[in-house]
Parts: sequence; structure tokens; C-alpha cells
Amino acid sequence: MPAQNAWPSLRSTPVSDAWRQRLAEARLNRQQTRRWRTRRIVAAGTLDFAGNDYLGLAQDPRVCEAQAEGARRYGAGAGASHLVSGHLAVHEALENALARWTGRERALLFSTGYMANLGVLQALANADTAIFQDRLNHASLLDGATLSGARSRRFHHRDAHDLNRLLTRSECPHKLVVSDGVFSMDGDVADIATLAEVSQQHRAWLMIDDAHGVGVLGDDGSGCVGTLWGSAEVPVLVGTLGKALGTAGAFVAGDAALIEHITQFARSYVYTTAQPPSIAAATLQALEIVQGEPEHRDHLNANIAYFCREALQLGLPLSTSTTPIQPLLLGSEARTLSWSATLAKHGLQVGAIRPPTVAKGEARLRITLSARHTRCDIDRLLAGLKLCQQEEARCHAHPHNA
Ligand code: PMP
Repeated sequence: MPAQNAWPSLRSTPVSDAWRQRLAEARLNRQQTRRWRTRRIVAAGTLDFAGNDYLGLAQDPRVCEAQAEGARRYGAGAGASHLVSGHLAVHEALENALARWTGRERALLFSTGYMANLGVLQALANADTAIFQDRLNHASLLDGATLSGARSRRFHHRDAHDLNRLLTRSECPHKLVVSDGVFSMDGDVADIATLAEVSQQHRAWLMIDDAHGVGVLGDDGSGCVGTLWGSAEVPVLVGTLGKALGTAGAFVAGDAALIEHITQFARSYVYTTAQPPSIAAATLQALEIVQGEPEHRDHLNANIAYFCREALQLGLPLSTSTTPIQPLLLGSEARTLSWSATLAKHGLQVGAIRPPTVAKGEARLRITLSARHTRCDIDRLLAGLKLCQQEEARCHAHPHNA
């Protein structure tokens, strides 16, 4: 039996210097977020422009009540994996509702979007598959491709010519094209029509992860794919529930044969406890709101238009995004950290996104808008951003005082 404390401490292991170096460079902060029901308050008085609760449903009293009622009815947890005994009536009802909403034959629930992407790619691809991914795809898609053992290629962002070039060169018998629907750090939207056309020309499957599009885009909120594109054009559709729907989890939607295959072979589906039924109950309620109350999307879109108009007037480095994800492209890490610190001082929380999440030299503030923001909230954000500009101008004018 090993002596107590036989494991070498981090300090004495040979890799510790490298580990410590990596930790020092990572600098990802986890902040404790305390939120009250009716406001987007983080710590007292702070406004949240960093989250993905695009429609404010995470705090909708009807969704919260449905979750509490779900727990009372079905228990706090599912108690087992879906394939053992954890698949309850409320999961089935949610899967059916998600399939109807996205115009697909079936949908399958996963506990998180990360697990959905790992599981779907691992189930669909193997060493005989070539996977073609947009360079800016989410980390879970890249990790899923690695896990699958497939050969991976990355095409230039939203560049169908580059995709076509890579597909033409590939002699792999099975090809799978994968793209985010809305890109999580840039907020721009994939050109689904062209992706579908190029994929079909090369007899490749197309998978779209519309994590940030579902609930937000499309007349019925079913995303940039949803009912706009059928299973023939986009056979594999992934959506997450922890963003616009305000709860947690994810789904993959497609035709019955695809979903059956994923049910049997996606290891992150088979070997894990089913989503808590209370979450499924809350999501059913959130979905009803998304479908029945378009005014939340209208309000969100009005907020986006207002923010973009005013930010342009201030000369802020906006991108061309028209979605709730509005990056301010600041370039350097130091500049990004300095702006986010100034905003934090004035009670505004935004994402400070730096390498490796984005490429070197492309650090940015990731501002996200929600239907819960009022005009007054957005004016507060704009005033904070103006202060950042003024502080920067002062430092340039008097570098010694910086
Ligand atoms: N896909 C994309 C495009 C995402 O942005 C995210 C989350 N940031 C995920 C998948 C993972 O979703 P989840 O948070 O539910 O694991």
C-alpha cells in the first residue's frame, strides 16, 4: 500500500514548471454571479452584458415555476441514463416538441451542448471519415472531431471556395461538413445555403451547431436552420437549451434513422445520467414562450439595432454582426483587459475574450444583448464604453500619466 502523501506534489513533479507557466498564462477568471429574479444584477448594481440568456427566459417566473413543479412531479434527478430507466415522459414530450419546432422527424436530448457535439461527431465519424470544419467553430466541435478519430480539415471562415477546394482534394469515402450556425465569438451567421449546396455537390453530410441561433433567429425562433432548411439540406442539426431557452442541455434533430444511430452509438448519450426532468419541464415551458410570444425576439432585435446605431455613432470598433453577440474588436489583450476593467468599475460586466479562445491580435470585448435589457441599460453600457474611449485618448495625449 502506498505511503500517505506518496504522490508527488505539483511543485516537485518534473512538469510543474510548464504547468505553472500555462496556468499563469491562462488567466481565466471565474466570478461568482449572484442574480436576483427580476434584474440582470450580478453583484449589487452590476449589469450583465456577458451572458447568453438572450430572451431573458432563465429568469422568467413561468419557466422557474415549471422547473419547481417538474421537480415536485418527477423528482430532483432522472436517476439513471436514458437507455436504462432515466428517460421519462417529460423528456419524451420535450424531444417531440423540439422535433416539431425544427421541422425534423425526431430530436434527442443531451445534458449539455458540449456533450451533444462530442457524442454526435464520435457517433457519425471514424477513421474513414474526413471532417471539414469552419476555422472559427466552437471548441466542442473540434474536440468531437478529435475524439471520433476522423481526419480533420479546417476551411477559412465562411469561405465556401476554400471548403470546395478541400472537399475536391479529399479522397475519403465519407465526408462531413461542420459549422456553427451563429459564431460564438463573432456573432456572424453561417451561409447555410452555400454550405448545403457545396456539401451536396460533394455528397458530404452537413452538420450545423445552431447553439446561438435557436430561439433568436428565424420568424418562429427556430434558428438559422430550423424550419428554413429541411433534413435533406442540413441532415444534422444541433441546438442548445442553455442560451436563448434559458435552461440547460442540448438536442440533436434529424430524420429517424440518424437519431436512432446517435441514440445507440453516441457515448456521451449512452453513458451518462439523463437530464434532470425538472430541466426538461422548464424547457417545455420556455419553448412554449419562444413559439407563442414573438415580442421577446422583437424587443431583442430592437435592442440590437439601437446598440449598433449608437455604438457606430461613437466610432466604436463594431463588427458586422446583427445577432445578440456584438464583439468590439480591440486587438490587443492589454487593451481588452483595460476596457473591461473600466466597465467593471462602472458596474458593467462584459466578456473579455483573449487568445487562445480567439486568434492572437484579435482580442475583443464580447458584448451580448438580451430582451431583458432596457433602453436605459443599453445607454449605461454606451456611456461606459465612451468612458473607455476617453480614458484611452487621455493616455495617448499624456502617456506619462497612463
Ligand atoms: N456550441 C456552441 C457554438 C457554443 O457556443 C457552446 C457554448 N458556449 C456550446 C456548443 C456548448 O453548449 P453548452 O454550454 O450547452 O455545453
